[in-house]
Order: sequence, then structure tokens, then C-alpha cells
Amino acid sequence: MKYVDEFRDGRLARSLARAIAREVDPERTYHLMEFCGGHTHAMSRYGVQDLLPPNIHLVHGPGCPVCVLAIPRLDLAIELAQRPEVTLVSYGDMLRVPASRRRSLLKARAGGADVRMVYSAIEALAIAQQHPDREVVFFAIGFETTTPATAVLILEAQRLGLKNLTVYCNHVLTPSAIQSILDSPEVRELGRVQVDGFIGPSHVSTVIGSRPYEYFAEEYQRPVVISGFEPLDVLQSIRMLVRQLNDGRAEVENEFTRGVSRDGNVKAQALVADVFELRPEFEWRGLGHVPYSGLRIKNAYAAFDAERRFALREKPVNENKACQCPSIIRGLKQPTDCAVFGNACTPRNPIGSCMVSSEGACAAYYKYRWRKPEAA
Ligand code: SF4
Repeated sequence: MKYVDEFRDGRLARSLARAIAREVDPERTYHLMEFCGGHTHAMSRYGVQDLLPPNIHLVHGPGCPVCVLAIPRLDLAIELAQRPEVTLVSYGDMLRVPASRRRSLLKARAGGADVRMVYSAIEALAIAQQHPDREVVFFAIGFETTTPATAVLILEAQRLGLKNLTVYCNHVLTPSAIQSILDSPEVRELGRVQVDGFIGPSHVSTVIGSRPYEYFAEEYQRPVVISGFEPLDVLQSIRMLVRQLNDGRAEVENEFTRGVSRDGNVKAQALVADVFELRPEFEWRGLGHVPYSGLRIKNAYAAFDAERRFALREKPVNENKACQCPSIIRGLKQPTDCAVFGNACTPRNPIGSCMVSSEGACAAYYKYRWRKPEAA
């Protein structure tokens, strides 16, 4: 397949890995955070860490939209779904994520709630048109990759004069989350998480470009390489980061030149800017309340805002103490550090969001890197 197979060539991958091994400084370590869960899965699936010299450490970041959704926000989605007049429309990954008291949208559906799974935001439009007697709520989650589609949904609903469609907006921003990691006590004060450079997600940058990372590369003196998701993309990005660190540079570089420019998709950015505005703060699972890291619907489109129509208010909840997702999302722990990984918590019976999502670090480890111990 064009643009796929040539980026999965094992011979080239081993040759790139040997080039990296020649370039690393044996006297130092390199801690590189892949922000996005898609990279975590690609690295696990293709054994990238096993190809690298032992002084390159990959640190998993918070870039999994399902994993970072704070439980009070998910609780509100379940409460919405349980209203008799509501049809809640959601991406599939969200259905199995455990909320407080081990509830989930899937369990709510089993209990009679009208919860429907879609693959794209615009499908909610057809559902609202087909069921004018129902209040259809689209449960919008995700980073900059999915936000333009939600903006289009709202603009289309307005154009068609739909009165029974609203959006429960949980869209979040990648650069703010990276800045929050760099500002966290674990990185700044305690030194418990070392992050020397970032592997940035290319799909996000197809929308926002590479420019938004320039500020913190300069301010925090950490290099960023925007990387594709195939194994050769990832290895080449690691090599570019190693070179920057060896040279003492902290720049934004673009490995994914076949899809990313400095300015990104200006049309998509204009759609998002038309419909959404920054929230002063937004709660992330694992990162807490992060300033200017989430989006809300502008007043001009208030009629399509589920939080206003249904007067939604978050209630604080306690995390399940067994689950280490918050620490994994912050890069403090690895999935296998969790005592219930692979025994009480599996993809079939997930306790935390990191085991549910197709981008979650626990799911990646379980699927690709972990072998169940043989029974004695
Ligand atoms: S293994 Fe399960 S319980 Fe442990 S951190 Fe991962 S998702 Fe949470």
C-alpha cells in the first residue's frame, strides 16, 4: 500500500536503529515523551523500544482523548444518557470507560438508556433529523483532530434549523497539555519525570501546524519533532531528537513533511475559531485543572450547547484507588507498575480508561508487550 508499506520496512528500520545507536552519546540518557497514545501503540506494536540503545527511554504522555477525560465529565454524560428524552451519541471508545461507581455508558445502555455509537460527528445530524421527538446530544471528545468535525456539525445543525441537537463539548488542546507537563512539580521541582524532548503527533499538526509548539520549545528549551505514526517515521523522529539534544538545540522540526506544514489547515482552524472559545480552565484526568486547555461553545451557538440546555454541573468524585491511570498519564508510572494490570484489569474487564481506549498505554502494553505469566 502506497505511503504505508514503505514506512514499515523492517530492513530500513534496523538500519535506522543502527544509525541512532551510532549517534547517541553513551555518557548520557535521552528521555523522550511521545505525547500521543497512537505513537505508544505504534511503538509497542513494532517493538521500537527494543530496537533502541538502552540509554533512550520512551516516556508515555497523556495524548489519549478517552484516557484524559475527567471522571466528573463522564459522569455527566451518563446522567444525560439516563434522561428519558435524550439520545446520547458517542464515539465507541467512550462506551466502556468506567465512570464513578463503576458505571459506564454501556451499562447505562443495558439499563435502558438510548446510547448510540457513531464513527463521525456528522452522523449525529442524521439521527437528530430522523428523530425530531428526541433530544439528541453528541458527546464530543478529542484533541484538535476531531474538533473541526464537531464545528461542522454545529454549523450544519444551525443551517438546517435543527432544534433537537446539542453538543456536550469536551475538546482539549495538545500544546496546553504539554506545557502543563513541563510546569508540573514532577518535572520542574522534584525531577521525578525527566523529559528531554517530545515526539509530537502529526495528525494534530495537520490541523494546527507545527507553529504552536515553537513557544515552549524556546521557553522550556525542549526540542519537538512532529512525527508520523509508522515505525520508520517514529525512528526517524527519535534520530532527529537525538541530534538536537547532542547539538544543544531546542527547535520544532517536522518529520512528517508529507502532511504537515508550519501553519496547518487554516480553513479547519477558522471553523474551530468561529464555533469555539477557550475555557479559562478544564479538568484533565491525571493533569488536574489546566488553564486554557479546553474549548467551549461560543455564545453565538449557545442553542447547540448541551451544558447550557441541560444545566449540567460537575460533581467531584474520588478516583478508584487501584487504578494508576493518573500517574501513567503524567509519565510517572508504566502500566506494569499497576498491581492490577493483567489480572483484575484487562481489556475485557477494564478498571481504568487506559485499558479501554485503543490509544491507552495499558491497552498497548497488554496487547503487544506483556506476556501472561505461566501458571506455576
Ligand atoms: S492496568 Fe487498569 S487499573 Fe491499572 S492503571 Fe491501567 S487501566 Fe488503571
